[in-house]
Amino acid sequence: MHKVSIIGAAGTVGSSVGYQLATQSLVDEIVYVDIPSKKSLTIGQAEDTNHAAAYTSHTNVYSGNYSDTENSDIIIVTAGKPRQPGQTRVDLTSVNRTILDSIFSDISQYNDDFISIITTNPVDLLNRHVCDFENRPREHVIGFGGVLDSSRFRYTLSKKLDVPANHIKATILGEHGDSQVPIFSHVNLLNKPTPVFSPDEKSSILSDLKESAMCVIKQKGATQWGPASGVCHLVKSIVENSHSIFPCSAVLNGEYGISDVSLGVPVRLGSNGIEEIVEWDLTSEETDALTQSAIKLASEYQLLS
Ligand code: NAD
Repeated sequence: MHKVSIIGAAGTVGSSVGYQLATQSLVDEIVYVDIPSKKSLTIGQAEDTNHAAAYTSHTNVYSGNYSDTENSDIIIVTAGKPRQPGQTRVDLTSVNRTILDSIFSDISQYNDDFISIITTNPVDLLNRHVCDFENRPREHVIGFGGVLDSSRFRYTLSKKLDVPANHIKATILGEHGDSQVPIFSHVNLLNKPTPVFSPDEKSSILSDLKESAMCVIKQKGATQWGPASGVCHLVKSIVENSHSIFPCSAVLNGEYGISDVSLGVPVRLGSNGIEEIVEWDLTSEETDALTQSAIKLASEYQLLS
């Protein structure tokens, strides 16, 4: 039996994660929680999700309060303010930290041993904050962002190289934000030679990637399907204990020469959450960029505490 709770479930990302999880029949039970003024919307999202899932899935979805989240295996936190055009993720730090503090205080009344997956931005700073202040094992505290950034990287390369996106393995590490690090040295194409990128091509791809989320926000108001699919990949790997490797924000303890920072690194995910932080061989340029990303996040974290 697998029970998942989604906090922020009336919102764009939360409701889309719930819909995708339920229709894929990945878990047995999903509890939707949001603020009291959105109770009716949360009930409606849950019912609509059940209707969508009825042909393909055994998952039972319902709206609840924090007491209904008791004994969740995974708690997905998508609650908080999203970016508006012109805002950076870091601009959301203060308001979203307050929201997460109150949510984790409520969750912890009913749950001891669970894996959290946080999407709320700025995700790297808030993931570390939760690990530090909620006194939770780093293996159970997962920040979501790298999977989505890597999807965008794969899509960008697919257009540039005229190859289907699902034939490309390409990964972004580092901050879910401006100091993200595309790992060109690990780009891999199915049945094709590994492409070589000039410094100008790399910098143009990176600048496209930095803009890609805001392009969606400007056009449709929010990013939705991209984050929802990515979160479902993580949940699937945990509930199926598949030991798959995904880029996730995790609190480092010396890996990649970095400590006390949460940022995107390859992690092996199984039923106990983060089983391993996988240390890839990176070029010196990539290692330097990852170190700079960690320095940026460490200094922003000082302002948070
Ligand atoms: P949204 O405004 O559509 O939804 C947020 C939901 O959180 C709302 O329903 C709101 O009522 C709820 N909420 C606010 N305070 C709450 C509280 N105290 N308790 C319970 N629920 C509460 O926003 P969204 O577009 O779904 O984005 C949610 C968050 O995820 C934002 O911070 C956004 O920046 C972030 N995000 C991250 C990624 C990523 O890759 N990490 C991708 C997309 C969005």
